Amino acid sequence: MEFNKIAVIGAGTMGNGIAHVFALANYKVTLFDINDKAIERGIGTISKNLDRQVKKEKISQEQMDATMANIFATTEMSACADADIIIEAATENKELKFKIFAELDAIAKPEAILASNTSTISITEIAARTKRPAQVIGMHFMNPVPMMKLVEVIRGLTTGDEVYNSTVELCKKLGKTPVTANDYPGFISNRILLPFINEAIFALMENVGTVDAIDEVAKLGFAHPMGPLTLADLIGLDTCLAILEVLHNDLGDPKYRPCPLLKKVVAAGHYGRKTGNGFYLYAGQEVPVANKF
Ligand code: NAD
Repeated sequence: MEFNKIAVIGAGTMGNGIAHVFALANYKVTLFDINDKAIERGIGTISKNLDRQVKKEKISQEQMDATMANIFATTEMSACADADIIIEAATENKELKFKIFAELDAIAKPEAILASNTSTISITEIAARTKRPAQVIGMHFMNPVPMMKLVEVIRGLTTGDEVYNSTVELCKKLGKTPVTANDYPGFISNRILLPFINEAIFALMENVGTVDAIDEVAKLGFAHPMGPLTLADLIGLDTCLAILEVLHNDLGDPKYRPCPLLKKVVAAGHYGRKTGNGFYLYAGQEVPVANKF
């Protein structure tokens, strides 16, 4: 399959990263989100991240300008109708994704592939909400997308061979390394990562160690580039909770129960880096908080 035009649904943490890497690889990208604020934030992040790549001399100013020119940002979903592949990266919520896929199925070209960047939600179930289940696949990029090589390619029960092969080739053209996962909750990456993050939050809640101590153990003891609490803030604490809820509900094993402290922090509206406040405080944080942990 030939891919020229890409559409990305959602301009948040992952959506703007996915738009960034496709546009930098010279694809025309339509980036859709529900409101102007989300679009502005997404385009602002892409510009800031490209600028950082220019300053580090990874790309030229001309490449940055061409990349920005390849992106058309919109709040009209109909603008995605001419895309060869639509990659959905909206909020991790089952019902929302079902609704978006039904809408995309109605507007997309009959031959277009519909991919989801979901962290946990069943690709088979999403596919069943469309009239083209053979053309629905999981493309699970890692955060931050411009830096991370891995894309988990998830085959739903009904995903067709040609769609699978074309998606794997597309990942390679982007300079990414595709790894195939079968369609079970959390796929490979989050089935392993989220219980680790969740356990780190339990250790914090039970005062086994401080935020810094827990992260330091993972960095110095396991040679991880960042600790689990830093990583949770980077992923987004709301997203971590949503992933754990799917693992818990869909696998039915109590070992996946989300830590009450994670639930409490999310209930306070502290989602990590994206809100400026999580297990750590970040510059520009708007919600002051008194000595949380
Ligand atoms: P985010 O909260 O940063 O962004 C979500 C975006 O979706 C927001 O801009 C929001 O306005 C938009 N949105 C909400 N409803 C929408 C709709 N109906 N149509 C279009 N856009 C809509 O979330 P994120 O971290 O970018 O996560 C997006 C997806 O990527 C989720 O499925 C998540 O599980 C997955 N994912 C996240 C990470 C991570 O580290 N954050 C990594 C891999 C995969």
